[in-house]
Amino acid sequence: MRTQDIIAAKRDGRELSDAEVRRIVLDYASGRVPDYQMSAFLMAAFIRGLSYSETMSLTRAMVQSGALLDLSAISGTKIDKHSTGGVGDKTTLIVVPILAACGAKVPKMSGRGLGFTGGTLDKLESIPGFRTSLTIDQFIAQVGRVGAAIAGQTENIVPADKKIYALRDVTATVDSLPLIAASVMSKKIACGSDVIVLDVKAGSGAFMRDRTRARDLARMMIAIGRSFRRNVAAAITNMDQPLGCAVGNALEVEEAVRVLRGDADSASSQGLESLCISLSALALETAGVAADSDEGEKMARQAFSSGMALGKFREIIEAQDGNPGVLDDPSLLPRAEHVIEVFSLASGVVSSIDCAQIGRAAGVLGAGRERKEDIIDPAVGLTVLKKLGDQVNEGEPLALIHANDTEQVPVATEMIQEAYTLGEPTSIPPLIHEVLR
Ligand code: URA
Repeated sequence: MRTQDIIAAKRDGRELSDAEVRRIVLDYASGRVPDYQMSAFLMAAFIRGLSYSETMSLTRAMVQSGALLDLSAISGTKIDKHSTGGVGDKTTLIVVPILAACGAKVPKMSGRGLGFTGGTLDKLESIPGFRTSLTIDQFIAQVGRVGAAIAGQTENIVPADKKIYALRDVTATVDSLPLIAASVMSKKIACGSDVIVLDVKAGSGAFMRDRTRARDLARMMIAIGRSFRRNVAAAITNMDQPLGCAVGNALEVEEAVRVLRGDADSASSQGLESLCISLSALALETAGVAADSDEGEKMARQAFSSGMALGKFREIIEAQDGNPGVLDDPSLLPRAEHVIEVFSLASGVVSSIDCAQIGRAAGVLGAGRERKEDIIDPAVGLTVLKKLGDQVNEGEPLALIHANDTEQVPVATEMIQEAYTLGEPTSIPPLIHEVLR
């Protein structure tokens, strides 16, 4: 079985066998297949698509490329939560403590931000001292003791995905449903949880711009999870505007803490709170910790209002050497030197927001990365003041820029102004479009 024959078969639209998929993936992971052959294969798969059985084979081969996390030392149901990525998405910082406060075990391996989307590890590292790099033993011991740990994925978890994802990034082959589904699910399967709750974002600030594709992706991921005997549920959630108000690492931690403290003052932060309650309820119901979504919601709300979720976040921060003082005094988080208003150039009702553009504007200030090796500035970012359906008058601020490098402020200002479309009153999209169980 020569690699070029596997590539040719996919190019010509033939369905590959499990052995062929396995062969090209594992040989690429071990360095026997070079980048140029894998690039050709990925493009053929991108254009021709992958069948259900090929997608399963791909996921299986990717899982087999590395180690499986053995969570058997942790008692109880283990829940993992995954977001396909968005702008201002700090739900993990809120949902993980809620679930742990409800008695679930949450071993959460997270990633870094790339492009216009943020990453949980970058956000957590804005907390002074917080350590996202844990050994497997430390990770498992913390989940057993505290109920949750949030750490970076270790090198030996799905190494094939690391190589393939990096190659897809530079060969215009990221945006393929089976490739995304296999990439996400191989990591979730390898991380070992019994229950996986997927937050599949749809909209102008998500990988999946339209809901139908988001639903197809969710269905594919649920099917993969089931074939590995995992209990998977997915929520298709809206990403046509940033989630909450804060976009940028320390700013997002501050907003998440405000929500956990019950101080969500703006309607926008309250929306974030209600999404987190719903995602937590879905996770508790799927795990069987709650009998149904109503009971799950009650439990999540109770964890919130009793302060137990905030207490769990404190325990997680302490266990990972962060300064828990940030929960009481947000000024301990990194702060940008300059806060600058971005004014609206016209009057009207906000009828659409190019959410990815808002993410990129935060990126040019230093909050995100274009390439993996870029260094981020934890303090910088945006506070979004106007959301869909809000009335804006000319000269009123749309957003606040938090900057250290003022050279980038005019660029970010223009990007934010361009991201807003003002028009007629519009219907506000629901936070959750649908739930698939
Ligand atoms: N996130 C992943 O982990 N993989 C993809 O392919 C896309 C988003």
